[in-house]
Amino acid sequence: MNPAWESIRISVCRRCIDGDNSGVCRLPEEEFCPLEEYFPAVMDVIMAARGRPVEAQVKALRSRICAKCSIGSIESCRMRDTLECALERYMPLIIEKVGSMNVGWARM
Ligand code: SF4
Ligand code: SF4
Repeated sequence: MNPAWESIRISVCRRCIDGDNSGVCRLPEEEFCPLEEYFPAVMDVIMAARGRPVEAQVKALRSRICAKCSIGSIESCRMRDTLECALERYMPLIIEKVGSMNVGWARM
């Protein structure tokens, strides 16, 4: 497993309400997690925005990830509104974890 994703699995998936408390995802097969699906892009955005205010990083994530996500868009998303999207739900934690990673080994 990629070490960057492993770090997220340990810190985020273990706390995720869609996980089993040990880092294993329990989303139904017909659903997908935008954090996992778009993780390389999530990393790119956060690495590029490192050092900027969290609000700016949140905005950058939405503009890049939500723009490509098949579930919603930058302007509207029902999973964002209901916090069903794990990327949205754990965004501050994800920004903190990815922001503290070493770029050298974290890149996918
Ligand atoms: S929904 Fe996403 S964050 Fe939650 S356990 Fe599954 S892969 Fe991890
Ligand atoms: S908030 Fe909606 S559009 Fe953005 S990543 Fe999550 S599910 Fe996709």
